[in-house]
Amino acid sequence: MDELHRAQKAKEEIGKPSVFSKIIKKELPADILFEDDQCIAFHDINPQAPSHFLVVSKKPIPMLDDVQEEDTKVLVINNGEQGCQSVYHLHIHVVGGRQMEWPPG
Ligand code: 5GP
Repeated sequence: MDELHRAQKAKEEIGKPSVFSKIIKKELPADILFEDDQCIAFHDINPQAPSHFLVVSKKPIPMLDDVQEEDTKVLVINNGEQGCQSVYHLHIHVVGGRQMEWPPG
């Protein structure tokens, strides 16, 4: 399934533990770069650049629209279906290691 198709189906998974929740609980393996009590950072399983990792809130916030006042430290994001979000557990992509393009690519 390609990323666009995955994103179109992903909202059906809201309310279930996300793959990222399973990584946080160490039920799924991941190449973890950093972890504290609020967030975890690990390499993306399908990197789009030489460096591509995800920073994920440990609190299971599905998407940007669900951020509360208390979550204001959280930053930015593929948001929702039209933003091609494919995992509904708020996360930040960090990409680099090559010349990136704009629009993103
Ligand atoms: P989104 O499209 O929601 O912004 O990005 C979700 C990202 O999570 C994708 O880049 C995808 O490759 C990554 N991803 C999905 N499942 C897993 C997984 O099980 N492990 C890791 N490390 N990354 C994943």
